[in-house]
Amino acid sequence: MENKFFISYTINDHIEQILGQGGELAYLIKGENRAVLIDGLEGAGSLKAFVRELTDLPVTLILTHGHLDHLGAAFEYRECMIHPDDMELFYDPRHFSRESRLGFAKVPSPLASHQLASLSIDDVVEGCTVRMKPLYDGDVLDLGGIELEVIGVPGHTWGTLVFLDRKDRILFSGDAVNINTLLGMKGSASVEDYLESLHHLKDFDDAYDVMYGGHGTSCVLRSIVDDAIAMCERIIARTDEKIPSFSLDHEPVYYASDHNPDYSPKCGGLANIQYKEEEILKGTAKKYRSL
Ligand SMILES: [Zn+2]
Repeated sequence: MENKFFISYTINDHIEQILGQGGELAYLIKGENRAVLIDGLEGAGSLKAFVRELTDLPVTLILTHGHLDHLGAAFEYRECMIHPDDMELFYDPRHFSRESRLGFAKVPSPLASHQLASLSIDDVVEGCTVRMKPLYDGDVLDLGGIELEVIGVPGHTWGTLVFLDRKDRILFSGDAVNINTLLGMKGSASVEDYLESLHHLKDFDDAYDVMYGGHGTSCVLRSIVDDAIAMCERIIARTDEKIPSFSLDHEPVYYASDHNPDYSPKCGGLANIQYKEEEILKGTAKKYRSL
């Protein structure tokens, strides 16, 4: 299904992938009793109205983390579930403001196949106070016939969560692990903390086959977790390539490996990592609420 702002792709008879204006992705999982919307895109167009066309079930919005390209629909539902460590990050002007979210939607990207040239501020949902319910590692969401297990993977943000659907053997991974995993931003964890999170995620290795993330056109093999672990170990041992770059917060950072145009590492594997030199060791990267 598609409209001016969104396209949905059917993964199976109860899971839809929804592509937003900036090439970011949300997922609608339909159980027997209720549906869950994983992530809310950046808020260009009414995602709530689009989702209403896809299901009559009551919908709960759950966020993988509090970044601008994942929280938009929270301003339409006026409530969401999110890890407490990302609740204040959500209200940082860089993520909350309409201008900033419009900016994201308009950045030219090969992933944004549906981008409108005419997109304006009036198309972007205005920010408002949102009722937030806490979600924690170990929580289970029962949709009727399908359960989503919540797994905490602090790294990209301290409050990053991924959602495991054992029945479909899918992990919905947001921005937790991908070819361009960004640490070193305001509210990110250190490389050592991230490595610990990846080992925690490894405990669930035999429960899923593929990961569906917050960006990118298709699913990713779970072997990316091993590649990310190896890359963290290289950064901690100071044996990575250390390619200078700038973060989305415009601060100096490094890429662990030189990268191809799609940010995949030239040194091989599926996972590249951006990090800050001074935030490699445990205890060096503060939670957003302590900044
Ligand atoms: Zn993010």
